[in-house]
Amino acid sequence: MGSDPGTSVVSPHLQHWDAENLFVVGASVYPFNAGYNPTGPLGALALRLGDDLNDYVARPRHL
Ligand SMILES: Cc1cc2nc3c(=O)[nH]c(=O)nc-3n(C[C@H](O)[C@H](O)[C@H](O)COP(=O)(O)OP(=O)(O)OC[C@H]3O[C@@H](n4cnc5c(N)ncnc54)[C@H](O)[C@@H]3O)c2cc1C
Repeated sequence: MGSDPGTSVVSPHLQHWDAENLFVVGASVYPFNAGYNPTGPLGALALRLGDDLNDYVARPRHL
């Protein structure tokens, strides 16, 4: 996950840079190996993805 398509696979919205209808959720999107309590932020990302998916389904595009 990152803001630069040249150095990341998915955007901060967890949307694949090259396939806008592909979203990835889970600890695999972390750009580093979290040392402490990765699950809280992961839950927050999943919740935000729920909102983003509602938005995307209503109007498909790069978020
Ligand atoms: C021993 C241990 C202790 C930990 N302690 C803590 C802690 O104290 N605090 C903390 O915040 N985090 C802790 N973590 C880390 C935390 O568990 C992970 O960061 C978090 O669960 C990762 O979530 P995830 O959804 O990315 O992956 P997972 O929770 O591993 O979920 C992946 C899911 O995908 C499923 N799956 C896999 N392959 C397929 C397939 N082909 N088709 C369908 N489903 C599939 C699996 O069955 C699984 O349910 C700990 C991890 C371990 C191993």
